[in-house]
Amino acid sequence: MRRQAAIVKCSGQVYFAFMNQIANNLQAVDARLAKAARLASRKPETARLIAVSKTHPKEAVEAALEAGQRVFGENRVQEAAGKFPALREKWPEIELHLIGPLQTNKVADAVALFDVIQTLDRPKLAEALAKEIQKQGRAPGLYLEVNIGREPQKAGLLPEETGEFLTFCRSLSLQISGLMCLPPQEDNPAPHFKNLAAMAASLHLPHLSMGMSADFETAIAYGATEVRVGTAIFGERK
Ligand SMILES: *Cc1c(COP(=O)(O)O)cnc(C)c1O
Repeated sequence: MRRQAAIVKCSGQVYFAFMNQIANNLQAVDARLAKAARLASRKPETARLIAVSKTHPKEAVEAALEAGQRVFGENRVQEAAGKFPALREKWPEIELHLIGPLQTNKVADAVALFDVIQTLDRPKLAEALAKEIQKQGRAPGLYLEVNIGREPQKAGLLPEETGEFLTFCRSLSLQISGLMCLPPQEDNPAPHFKNLAAMAASLHLPHLSMGMSADFETAIAYGATEVRVGTAIFGERK
């Protein structure tokens, strides 16, 4: 059971309703996740929920924290840097994932802020990360982003270059532990999830980040260890 907000910082019906809505949404997502895990003969805790809070205010993240959620995803370094350091003072156990593209000029901030960077996808970024991890003595978890639908405009490695890139990352002493993907919006995601899972298995990478609000049950059926859910928890983004 997700705990309802016990503490309401600003009094008033609207804020209270808002916090309850997020707690209720989390409970509904938990139920969907548990059911999908059961159908796949998996334990629910093997598919972790990443609450994607991009574009939503700090108060929304607080509501999720009050409801017991601890793992969050953001797609911009700057935006996350504006919300999470303050939240971590109260909830130091927050686990924060970067799920959006990372520019090399933001690598220092990203290494300092995130626990996992899911979007490593090019040699220049690998080199910058290796240098910064060495410098800061702090090593976030790293996943490779795969352009699983081979979309020309999309970030991520092509499937056939992923193995070689993994070797390159290891030559820089980077510890890669997973793969992440964002299938083409118009496609049935199932074959893409299946392909990413097969790649992770053949590369012996334990973490598999795939599935969003609309399709995370399918991702769990194909072995997702992390699902990234925004809208179903926090509502529509503007
Ligand atoms: C925004 C985003 C999500 C969450 O999408 P929803 O459909 O709102 O659940 C997941 N993954 C990535 C990479 C995103 O940018």
